[in-house]
Amino acid sequence: MIEDVSTYSRRGIHGHVVNELGLQITRGVFAPGEVIDPNELLQTFGVSRTVIREALKVLSTKGLVDARPKRGTFITERSRWQLLDGDVMRWRSEGSPDLLLLVELGEVRQAIEPMAARMAALRRDDVQLSAMGAALQDMDDWDGVRHETIVAADLAFHSGLLKAAGNELLEQFEVILEPALQARDFLTHSHNPDRSFFQRHKAVFDAIENRDPDRAQTAMQDMMTAAVSDAELALQQTVAGTEFLRNRQSALGQVAASSNVIG
Ligand SMILES: [Zn+2]
Repeated sequence: MIEDVSTYSRRGIHGHVVNELGLQITRGVFAPGEVIDPNELLQTFGVSRTVIREALKVLSTKGLVDARPKRGTFITERSRWQLLDGDVMRWRSEGSPDLLLLVELGEVRQAIEPMAARMAALRRDDVQLSAMGAALQDMDDWDGVRHETIVAADLAFHSGLLKAAGNELLEQFEVILEPALQARDFLTHSHNPDRSFFQRHKAVFDAIENRDPDRAQTAMQDMMTAAVSDAELALQQTVAGTEFLRNRQSALGQVAASSNVIG
């Protein structure tokens, strides 16, 4: 997969400890307020005290732990977590993704990408357009087998679009794309897009190529609506997903219908 330079290295002992603890905290193995015993960690990981201390320091910069004299190091309230941090995002999305993250990422993309498409239609240069065109070509050429290829092409298309929007803050929202696309891939199992998947991306691309902001925005809005709808359908096929949706107002404007459960 694409190497994200903003995330913490998984290589080396230090990276391994940071990664394991980050995963456990974000997956709720520890409860907020729970005190972490460094001696226990020394035994669990079989590493030096320095390694544990350094790892906890990294986790505290991500808002996951804090330390007080006498109380020691403890897990912070979720509201203090740096949710846009690349590692925190990755810990929540890897493997079996956190359902709340999955749904919230879809909503954020709905809020951001249609306007980004509009801006890209107005501002894109030829180099940016051809980068998006290459990603589109990869989708068109897809052999229908290796799904990593389609996820990578999809990621390249959307991050290319954020670049073409010509706003450096928006460009950094790339951090939400990879977890969003990977989580969707997991959810829809092997993510087997039909031809409409390519057509929706082509519609956005054509509008940006023709410098038509209204059409770019509408085409992207349609794509995002389809994505949220697909995600909700996939969620409704699991017990946990159905339960989750029952308690949440859909971003599409309806309360998700739990009567649509398939299988
Ligand atoms: Zn896409």
